[in-house]
Amino acid sequence: MEKSELQEFRTLLVERQKKIEKNLTHINSEIKELRELEINDDGDYASISNEGAIDSKIGTFQFEELNEINKAIEKIDHHSDSFGFCESCGVFIGRDRLFVKPYALYCKKCRESIEQKSIDNK
Ligand SMILES: [Zn+2]
Repeated sequence: MEKSELQEFRTLLVERQKKIEKNLTHINSEIKELRELEINDDGDYASISNEGAIDSKIGTFQFEELNEINKAIEKIDHHSDSFGFCESCGVFIGRDRLFVKPYALYCKKCRESIEQKSIDNK
């Protein structure tokens, strides 16, 4: 891939990284606030706990995405030859897909078969 293209994807990744980091900080401070509320008000304990659990789930999901983004940025910086290629079959993932999800590790076909396998295993 051209250096200028890699830089373009890197910019996309860094923007997304910043956004998620901001979200996670926000979620963390909200959970902290909710926890403080729990101590102060016994009556609302149950409902606050549920909201906290939902926030944590979003947090976990975003944290995973952040990990993938960090890996992709590292790939561009240190192994730029492999960036954009499927880690399973080695095919070029495609610019369209990378613009939507610049941290994608697999081509559409492999991603689908991996997802299918994880469904089968359940
Ligand atoms: Zn593949």
